[in-house]
Amino acid sequence: METGSNTTTVRDAVVIGAGVTGIYMLHRLLALGLDATALDEAAGPGGTWYWNRYPGARFDSESYTYGYSFSKEILEEWSWSEHFAGQPETLRYLEFVVDKLGIRDRMQFGCKVKSARFDGASNRWTVEMEDGRRESARYLLGAVGALSAATLPRIEGRDDFEGEAFHTYDWPKDREVELAGRRVAVIGTGATGVQVIQTIAPIVGELAVFQRRPNWCAPLHNSPIDAETQKRIKGSYDQIFARMAETHGSFLHGTDPRSYHEVSEEERLALWEKNYASPGFGVWFSNFVEVFLDPEVNAAYSEFIANKIRSRVHDPAIAEKLIPKDHGFGNQRVPLESHYYEAYNRDNVRLVDASETPILRITPKGIQTTEEEFEFDLIIYATGFDSFTGSYDRIDIRGAGGQKLRDKWKDGPITYLGTNVSGFPNLFLLAGPQSASASSNYPPSIETCVGWTADFIDYLERNALQRVEARLEAEEQWTAEIKAGYEGNMIARAKSWFTGYNSNVDGHDKLRHMMYLGGSPAYRAKLAEVASKGYEGFDLG
Ligand code: NAP
Repeated sequence: METGSNTTTVRDAVVIGAGVTGIYMLHRLLALGLDATALDEAAGPGGTWYWNRYPGARFDSESYTYGYSFSKEILEEWSWSEHFAGQPETLRYLEFVVDKLGIRDRMQFGCKVKSARFDGASNRWTVEMEDGRRESARYLLGAVGALSAATLPRIEGRDDFEGEAFHTYDWPKDREVELAGRRVAVIGTGATGVQVIQTIAPIVGELAVFQRRPNWCAPLHNSPIDAETQKRIKGSYDQIFARMAETHGSFLHGTDPRSYHEVSEEERLALWEKNYASPGFGVWFSNFVEVFLDPEVNAAYSEFIANKIRSRVHDPAIAEKLIPKDHGFGNQRVPLESHYYEAYNRDNVRLVDASETPILRITPKGIQTTEEEFEFDLIIYATGFDSFTGSYDRIDIRGAGGQKLRDKWKDGPITYLGTNVSGFPNLFLLAGPQSASASSNYPPSIETCVGWTADFIDYLERNALQRVEARLEAEEQWTAEIKAGYEGNMIARAKSWFTGYNSNVDGHDKLRHMMYLGGSPAYRAKLAEVASKGYEGFDLG
């Protein structure tokens, strides 16, 4: 419904984002009979899978554990072609889901949200887009993604480069980027850089990889899904989802029940060899629990992986450079790879140690380090994201009394349950900071957050409640619990997007408590408990 001449559309709910989270949230809101829309800057749905079109972009989770579980019909009708699907297939899947649910006409594309303001008198949010359009809604739902505020490196001269250059997130959507025979630089060796490097190494003329810190990478072992396996997968979705519900991170892979200390050296190595040879995240998660908690055991496992790297890279000096020395295996997100290390055995690939010889500036022709001037036709910035809070910070969000969310989160996110924020009534964060989403397989966690939020909104509607706000003391308690989760956890030791470090964002040079680390089962239990106690910790009015 439109009101007056100021083109403010008045609705029940506005979802910001039409990715994996936004699609499902919109579906649930519409199913409640609410007038809802989803807004997205992109030209279509898909979120992360819309934007990240760089060569080699694909899942590190098994495809059939990444799709939505809520619709038997979708599970039956969609067939994944590979165990770990690539970006084009995933985007096609999300398009398929949107059409299957019939919600495309409730989505608005090409609209970048500029601000969102809460009005305490009407208990409504007004969302303004960059083109001046406005939406007014009782409920505002943030489905903005944890990794959607891409960060370019703060390197002098970036605009002077005369060749092509872009962040992997902004990979051109409307044309093929020429790679064959060209001189290409990749800056960054996170999960994105690794996928780009291994994919383009055999295509480009020359490739220089600028690595500041290496990551621990391990083989993905992807393969096509044949007809027989397809049938088996479709016939066992109930078991697949039941297994995922049991594990700490909602993956198929859960910790080994044995203690590291109770097995023989032979048994320990047998498990590690088996995991290294198996597809997916087993190499990270199907491990002894001590690998995650005990620095000595973690060091032993890290050495096992280091030896694998040494065995795959011909030049021992290059191999050493590719082995992380500042953090143990799994303290940062482990990129899964396909012949990544072998790329460094190619004559056309060169590893530049950007910690030893830092990049000084981008020049019109290429990159100048403290040692050398390189010439390139294309520079690919695989330099990551302002994680979790970045996408919220980029919107001017003001809650009750005009408080800015950006100010409240200056030193890191503060939430209740990772779903709500005191001082910001009727705002729901979906799979956002301080939820269990990033410490787990995203889609199941998204379904948890969206399902819980939809049930909460249903409760508010049925009880004619117009305002919901997290209590300050509940928020303080939750944030303290989040912080406690980092104590003794080896993740806290590493400087990565898990802990909010980002050299390209002001003030992001210390630990930010971004994630709930207690595991998906405990997180789901907590959400259920809060709901069962009439939404304990919230002021409802
Ligand atoms: P990332 O892990 O944060 O990596 C960014 C890289 O850029 C790091 O190597 C970083 O070095 C480097 N970098 C940043 N600024 C730099 C600078 N000024 N100079 C030199 N190097 C610089 O980001 P990402 O690779 O995009 O991955 C983010 C997350 O997205 C992943 O961990 C994963 O969860 C998700 N992802 C998933 C998939 C998948 O499912 N398969 C694929 C891609 C990404 P430092 O380490 O020294 O800071």
